[in-house]
Amino acid sequence: MNDYPELEPIPLREEAQPGYQGVAWKPTWNCFCCHDTGFVRYLLVKKVIPNYVSGRHKPVECNATNCNIRLGDALYETNTFVHRSSADLCDRLNSDERKMWDEWSKEQHEKRKQRLRLIDSNITRNLRLRSRTNDEQLDVERRHQDIRNDY
Ligand SMILES: [Zn+2]
Repeated sequence: MNDYPELEPIPLREEAQPGYQGVAWKPTWNCFCCHDTGFVRYLLVKKVIPNYVSGRHKPVECNATNCNIRLGDALYETNTFVHRSSADLCDRLNSDERKMWDEWSKEQHEKRKQRLRLIDSNITRNLRLRSRTNDEQLDVERRHQDIRNDY
């Protein structure tokens, strides 16, 4: 009678565990002005050079103070990029971009938590595969009434 094999339970994925608070992806660039590429990001260049078109205009070198990327000398010699961005400008772009990403990841985190709450409540709701019969419904109501009477 008690011959069933004993199996190990398989946990739900981490994000589906109750109370999961996981953190949304957050960029880890050291320099937000160039995303550690050495060139100021396109949308940031556009803030300063509104008519800038990538592929038609020369890329802009990042000069942010905290930037670790130094472009090779060969690039300077070929004069393929603009030197126009000052450290001051890049620092401002860096800090704006960092703030933008902070807000973005906070928003993502909130959306994620809401989504998980929704999934949780849908799972609970969908566990019942068919509607209750009249008898079952009466039984449930009676039990609810009993519980209320106990209070
Ligand atoms: Zn940079």
